[in-house]
Formats: sequence, C-alpha cells, structure tokens
Amino acid sequence: MTKVPLLDLTRQYKAIQHEIKAAMDQVVESQRFILGPKVEELEQGIASYCGAKYAVGVSSGTDALLISLMAEGVGPGDIVVTTPYTFFATVGAIVRTGARPVFVDIRPDTYNMDPQKLDATISNMSEEERAHLKAIIPIHLYGQCADMAPIREVADRYDVVVIEDAAQAIGAEYQWPGEGIKRAGSMGEYGCFSFFPSKNLGAFGDGGMVVTSDEARYHLLKILRVHGARPKYYHKVVGGNFRLDALQAAVLIVKLKYLDQWTQKRQENAQVYRKLMEEAGIEKVKLPLEKEARHIYNQFIIKVSRADRDRLRDYLAENGIGTEVYYPVPLHMQECFGYLGYRPEDFPVSVEASQTTLALPIFPELKPEEISYTVEKLADFYKK
Ligand SMILES: *Cc1c(COP(=O)(O)O)cnc(C)c1O
Repeated sequence: MTKVPLLDLTRQYKAIQHEIKAAMDQVVESQRFILGPKVEELEQGIASYCGAKYAVGVSSGTDALLISLMAEGVGPGDIVVTTPYTFFATVGAIVRTGARPVFVDIRPDTYNMDPQKLDATISNMSEEERAHLKAIIPIHLYGQCADMAPIREVADRYDVVVIEDAAQAIGAEYQWPGEGIKRAGSMGEYGCFSFFPSKNLGAFGDGGMVVTSDEARYHLLKILRVHGARPKYYHKVVGGNFRLDALQAAVLIVKLKYLDQWTQKRQENAQVYRKLMEEAGIEKVKLPLEKEARHIYNQFIIKVSRADRDRLRDYLAENGIGTEVYYPVPLHMQECFGYLGYRPEDFPVSVEASQTTLALPIFPELKPEEISYTVEKLADFYKK
C-alpha cells in the first residue's frame, strides 16, 4: 500500500482543474490544435521566464535537444561532449544526428558536469577530433544548474556551442561571476526544456521548448520544427515534425502562473527534510548540496553507501514510500553505446552515483506528515 507516493499529480490537478478545463475548452472550441496563438503565448511566457529573447515550442524535451543539434548542423563525423550521468535522451539525441558522444565525468557533490574534466578531455583530443567538436551539452541535473561559467569559458576557447539540457531545471538560477544571476537555458546558445508530466512544469502529455537569444537560430529552429519548410511546401533544409500542440500550450499557460509557488513548496520540503534528518541524527545519509543560487528540486537526491542503497529502497517500499533510482546504469555502460568502447571505470563518479543515490518524494503538494513519516522510516532503517 502506498502511503507516500514519489509523485502524485492528482493533488496539483485538483487545485486548478476548473481553470485548466476552461483553457482546454477554448482550444477545443476553436478547433485549432497545431501551433497557433496558445503556443505563441506560451513561447513568450517561457522566454521571459527564462531570461531569453526567443522560445520555440516543440514536441518534447528530447526533440528540443535534437532540433538544437540539427540547427547547428551536427551530423556524422561530428563530436558532442556531455556526461554519462543523465537521462538517456541527452545522448540519444546526439547519436540520432549521426554524431559521436564523448563523455566527461560529473562532480560528486552536484552530479553535474565537472568543468575541469571537460577541459582535460578536450585538450587531450587530437587536432582532427577537435576540428569535429561541435557542441557541449551540460545537464542541469535534478534542478540545479551546472557550473556554467567555466563550461562557457572552455566552449569559447574551442569555439563550440553550448546546448543546455535544462529539462529538469526550469527556473533554476546560477550566480555568474561578475554578471549576476542567470536562469537555466539562458547561458548557452540553446536551452532545452521538457514538459513531461513529472517535470516541474508538466503538460498533459509530451511537450518541450527551446529558448535562445540569437535571432538567426530562432528562425532556423522555427523552420526545422515544420519539416524545414519556408514558405509552406518549399524546403531548403530537412527538419521534422517537432510541433507543440495547442492543448498542451493551453495547460502550460495556466500552470506557468503557479510555477514559482510550486518551486517554493519544493524548496520548503527540502528544508523540512534537512531539519528532520538532522534532528533524527541520521549520519549515514548525505543530503543534496545546494550549491547554486536557486535549486528547483525536480528531485531530492540522497546518497548512501553502496551496500545500503537497494536495501534502503526496498525497506522504504515495504513501508509504502515511493522512491526511484535516477539513473541505475550510466550511459557509457548502456548496451546500445557499447560501440563507443568505454569501460565502466572510465567514469567512476558517474558509476558511484548510479549505485549510491536515491530520489525521495519532494513534489509541492507533499504533506509535512508524509515527510516526517519518510524520515522516521529512514531512521528506523539505520537503527536496525
Ligand atoms: C526528461 C528529460 C529529457 C527528455 O525530455 P522528454 O520531454 O521526456 O523527451 C531530457 N533530458 C533530461 C535530463 C530529462 O530529465
């Protein structure tokens, strides 16, 4: 029996269902389902929320990454650098263009790309490889920005673009030395977002967005989204069907108004966990490091010993508490990427994270008693 779900979207829906139904009804009445005014309104809302000039609504976070790579002309023979500790889509998108992913390991405290390892990996490349290096994709994992200033510095030094995988990080902030606060998605040439239902801003199905502040890139993204056509039925480039539905946009426009309030609830839940864990004296559980200016807690990730992780997960499940392992197999160890020739030990920090981390419930509508019950069961596990 589930007592504390990892995520319960029905609680959020109940609170705003009337508004959502009215917004969806407008679209249904108009019978305009593809792109159109709702999608444009959402694009403006997301662009300004993220501190970017433009936004292009697309079919998913995966397609946001793919269309960004396509807009840069990334293809066979090219190289794109990212980390092996992310959701599959980051690397899947690279491979689908025909390019080769090159991995760099993560930092053990934030699980985000390690800028020093990025620098070392690129400086160790041959001239020839470096000539084919097209892009770097840092991931703002779990809702906290990667260390963008040093990543940007490396990218600029080698003249490659930065595509931010901000799928888990809408509204996350980074303190850029000397320049102030910047939002996830506004620090690279492209910022990619997902509206998968479990993300902080979730649609009623699939959806995504690319933000950019570069006008030429914006126009190209818009053309690629509709099979590369401009005008209609005249194609200079090959794109795809990467469109966002008006119904999804209508839902997201309503939800965007509540996003900051929900983010604040997630942050408060994180504080409650911290306080209760400290009071319970649970020393064997490492809590997430809040390093950047604004962590939006798409996930609340604890770290335990290798020996304890799966047993802890089972124990919490037996007590009705939902958890998840993000991600059990780093991408350099996935069967489909075997041809890349990596060995498990090439990225020890990613391997360690995959074996020691666990996501606890953190969603905005989580009740204080659900958090205290979870912490109580964590404490029980370590008493045994
Ligand atoms: C969710 C996610 C994606 C993919 O988004 P979809 O909308 O599911 O296609 C990509 N990268 C990361 C890090 C994600 O968490």
